[in-house]
Amino acid sequence: MSLDLNKIRKDFPLLSQDIYKKPLVYLDNGATTQKPQQVIDAELEMYNALNSNIHRGVHYLSNCSTDKFEEARKKIKDFIKASSDKEIVFTAGTTASVNTIAFSLGEYWIEPGDEIILSEMEHHSNIVPWQMLCERKGAKLKVIPVLDNGELDIDAYGKLLSDKTKIVSVTHVSNTLGTINPIAKITEMAHSKDAYVVIDGAQGIQHGQLNVKDIDCDFYVFSGHKIFAPTGIGVLYGKEEILNKIPPYQGGGDMIDTVTFEKTTYAELPFKFEAGTANYIGAVGLGAAIDYIVSVGIEDIAEQEKELLEYATKKLSSIDGLKIYGTSENKVSTISFLLDGIHHLDTGMILDKLGIAVRTGHHCTQPLTKRFGIDGTVRASFAFYNTKEEVDALYDGLLKVKELFG
Ligand code: PLP
Repeated sequence: MSLDLNKIRKDFPLLSQDIYKKPLVYLDNGATTQKPQQVIDAELEMYNALNSNIHRGVHYLSNCSTDKFEEARKKIKDFIKASSDKEIVFTAGTTASVNTIAFSLGEYWIEPGDEIILSEMEHHSNIVPWQMLCERKGAKLKVIPVLDNGELDIDAYGKLLSDKTKIVSVTHVSNTLGTINPIAKITEMAHSKDAYVVIDGAQGIQHGQLNVKDIDCDFYVFSGHKIFAPTGIGVLYGKEEILNKIPPYQGGGDMIDTVTFEKTTYAELPFKFEAGTANYIGAVGLGAAIDYIVSVGIEDIAEQEKELLEYATKKLSSIDGLKIYGTSENKVSTISFLLDGIHHLDTGMILDKLGIAVRTGHHCTQPLTKRFGIDGTVRASFAFYNTKEEVDALYDGLLKVKELFG
């Protein structure tokens, strides 16, 4: 392991506490990640010294806040290797980003009878906005099936694509199974039919180097809180030429050029999509989180998580009656499982009493859990600050659950 975990864990104050007089083992990083002191300090500095509304002021503080906000945008642009700051739109998170695209691209591009392709492993956030669009426009949803190992059936996807396909929207990484999807290939196949591609990066952005230009997707969206940044801030990356063509989602201050009662003209990118006072303090926190990740090294983070996944998979697989859902070779450090005859909620509640935080239930992917004939799983999702000792604690906890349910 190349990372100094003792040092890293000291950066995350929340991790070093006891829960029910037991050391906290936080394995719910898929739901939200913890924040390093550097991110907390960046937010505090904004509130303590620099806060003022952005873009509209002529005074010192407003200019400081604006500069910090725009610096954060540049950091994100560099981190995901976008071509321009204009392609980085701040939103409230993944859900807000998908809704924005479903509305704006939908208004521009979707006609009755058109088809939108999703996958069976999508989070509800990447299903419901498209369903709403289909209802508005008389379009149809098509769904890429998931194979038994938790990978997408790419042959079936090829057969779903047709001249009617206008948008393909799939997740980079399954939040429930951990599967990493071949998004460059999915994009290339969609582009051969002139369809636009949206990638839900909520579970992809934090686990490895991203290059949106190499993937060539038209949109990539993610939430700050899943990448060690504050809640309430997220990103919508879109190719500049497409963002220029599609209408804004919300109207209000900051997104206009001129307003009269006869006609309004819109601001240039990315402001056209940032109506109202943006969460500029959250954006600064997100910028600080990116600085932090870059300083640790995203490749080292990926390596550490891979090692942890291998260790945890081996260890949990050795438990009699434990079944893992999602066994692709190509996975992030997320393990969904069930203990034979024991409800996921019961497992989660016992683990909680041992100080171990995991998630239970359908993980906002009801079509996926239905596909596996279950109503939910226990999900342990590891971040780079988790340790092998914490995997051991999970293992011991699961033996205890088995003993109790006998
Ligand atoms: N997409 C995926 C794959 C997710 O895992 C999540 C959250 O768990 C979301 C979308 C929604 O993210 P948010 O609630 O931050 O908008």
